[in-house]
Amino acid sequence: MLSTPLSRLVGDRTAKALAKLGLETGWDLARHYPRRYGDPSRLTDFGDLPLGDHVTLNARIARTSLRPTRKPRISMLDVTVTDGSGEITLRFFGAHGYLASRERRLYAGRVGLFTGTVERFGGKLMLKNPGFEFFDDDDEEDKAAALERMSRPTPIYAATAALPTWRIRGAVQTVLQPLTEDDVPDPVPTEILERDGLPTLREALRLVHDPRTEEDWRRGRERLRYEEAFVLQTALAARRAEAEAEAATAREARAGGIRDTFAKRLPFTLTEGQQEVVAEISGELARPWPMQRLLQGEVGSGKTVVALLSMLQVVDAGGQAALLAPTEVLAAQHARSIRAMLGPLAEAGMLGGAEDATRVELLTGSLPAAARKKALLAAASGEAGIVIGTHALLSEGVQFADLGLVVVDEQHRFGVEQRDALRAKAAVTPHLLVMTATPIPRTVAMTVFGDLETSTLREIPAGRSGIRTFLAPSGHPRWTQRTWELAREQIEDGGRVYVVCPRITAEGDDVETELLDEAAEDGEAQALPVAPAGNGKPQLAAVDEVAAILREHPALDGIRIGELHGRMSPEEKDAAMAAFASGEVPVLVTTTVVEVGVDVPEASVMVIMDADRFGISQLHQLRGRIGRGSRAGTCIAWTTAREGTPAMTRLRAFEATTDGFELAQVDLEQRREGDILGAAQSGHGSSLRLLRVLTDTKVIEKARWDARKIVDRDRTLAAYPALRQAITEQLDPERAQFLDRT
Ligand code: ADP
Ligand code: MG
Repeated sequence: MLSTPLSRLVGDRTAKALAKLGLETGWDLARHYPRRYGDPSRLTDFGDLPLGDHVTLNARIARTSLRPTRKPRISMLDVTVTDGSGEITLRFFGAHGYLASRERRLYAGRVGLFTGTVERFGGKLMLKNPGFEFFDDDDEEDKAAALERMSRPTPIYAATAALPTWRIRGAVQTVLQPLTEDDVPDPVPTEILERDGLPTLREALRLVHDPRTEEDWRRGRERLRYEEAFVLQTALAARRAEAEAEAATAREARAGGIRDTFAKRLPFTLTEGQQEVVAEISGELARPWPMQRLLQGEVGSGKTVVALLSMLQVVDAGGQAALLAPTEVLAAQHARSIRAMLGPLAEAGMLGGAEDATRVELLTGSLPAAARKKALLAAASGEAGIVIGTHALLSEGVQFADLGLVVVDEQHRFGVEQRDALRAKAAVTPHLLVMTATPIPRTVAMTVFGDLETSTLREIPAGRSGIRTFLAPSGHPRWTQRTWELAREQIEDGGRVYVVCPRITAEGDDVETELLDEAAEDGEAQALPVAPAGNGKPQLAAVDEVAAILREHPALDGIRIGELHGRMSPEEKDAAMAAFASGEVPVLVTTTVVEVGVDVPEASVMVIMDADRFGISQLHQLRGRIGRGSRAGTCIAWTTAREGTPAMTRLRAFEATTDGFELAQVDLEQRREGDILGAAQSGHGSSLRLLRVLTDTKVIEKARWDARKIVDRDRTLAAYPALRQAITEQLDPERAQFLDRT
């Protein structure tokens, strides 16, 4: 019944208008919940009549005027009402006789309630054809009854000019009125409804679309919010259960293997957190079903070594491990540093290689053909115990002899389907370790990564000296001078300096920062720094331009200045990074390609130009590139943002704390819900209407608990057809996929 197209339920004309709002079926309309409710207890102050709002006015009629319009047989009655200070006009259209009789009831001095939507006509605010009720000021009983009727909360829908909220309301009522309980199968099982005293879906829809009281719509909403969390959590629980039901090869730790040898040779002791996570993962790798774990860790908390120890356990057990990185720079760096850490342990079959050793291969899209062929062969033959790469690892033609573990670094760049693509490369489902340096609040993790178990590294290894952060007004002479003098001091002391710019070149629109577009959308574009660009256009700092200026700067005399950005070839990028790491070129002017995971322990200064153009997690990631060794870090963020703007709020938080979890919270608060889910994982669909993942912690936790109990009992949801149905219809196909496979 509710799956019927709207054209058959409410007529073609209305259906067409509803289609513009993306509403096609009865379900769509039923789920088009009111955005808010006209508040009846608060009689609207004339000083505050927001255009487009549905308002109820308690007012006295001041005067009326009835006159013809230009249209034949249509007259117009203007009723001016007052709240004692201000005035507003109520305008009725209709036949002259009809309006004349109405005018006799609407006489001056009469007090009543008037309800309608605020519109603008010829520059004046009016209510068009409002509803009205009168009561005798002396007759309390009459007044109470009228007030009751008038004071029901009025649902206000997301509407269009062609389709005002009251027409939507009418259409919703047309669709909902005839429905019985049987017409509206409820995805929430009866046992839960009874346990929590929740209304059925049919009843909840009535409560939100046609409430008698505020209590009504609050109850309805609460139930629908729970339902959203419950449907999503059931999908995630079922997905997890499905994966756990699969077989995986148990990869037990081998005493005296590469892993043990490597662990003994580590130049530092693992933090307690690292030890715990390593042990946890080790145990899970040894089980005959796939591990599915998310490792969250503050920037610099040492996730790589945790991943490496886990990969070596798999290699010791005769399997292979793949490490997937989001950028070529990062993949190359991982390959370099993992080879360096392993030393002879990564030189199997080579002169000087350890007896019990493996090989580490790098496989990226831009590899020269010969090198690529060699890497492909090593992966397919099993000679390479560890294969490191970018998305290229996902392409067809990449084969593994026995892939036992997939590690995905910096997960926020990868979606579920990519994870699955890589897992599909193994005959037997490999174990999965996903790592992210963008801390995720618990409920977001439960919503976005609900099918993964979570571990968190909160500690930063001892011996870090911390980072101080300063905001500097762009171009301020004293700050400029002080910044480059500090850079020189640090370099003379063996340090390195990053200078981060949002653009590559001074000409063209080659912005390399994802968040710039968003900032522009937020209307922050006006706050753009205006650098002296010659052509008079606002300009963001560009790598080539800033590098040229620094090469001429007296404070940096005799110091080499390097450049790094995404337009360079992989060889050029590698060379630039290597020259910087070695100290040959101690200043690197760069775009955000250094953002993720790059590790140069000597780096101690970071200057971020136009810092307001970066998102908060990006800034945090960037800053994580310095202060990684024993050298204290200084981050100077240049900005022209004004106090009070969202950009400045971000920057002030960035200045105040280096705690990634705190910054993540600020970041999420500034984002829209869709962005939160979308940023962490693609393709979430539009299934969350009422649920707010940041604030609805309790609901999500309860739903998760309930969902797991149900899935434990009935993995394929055979006994819960309405729940199955809801998952298929409300979640995007990727999420609901497990249903087709059962
Ligand atoms: P992230 O978690 O941000 O990926 P990395 O894995 O790159 O951090 O580690 C940052 C640096 O800390 C690396 O140079 C690494 O060798 C070092 N490191 C990791 N664990 C420890 C430890 N327990 N003690 C000291 N240094 C460590
Ligand atoms: Mg890392």
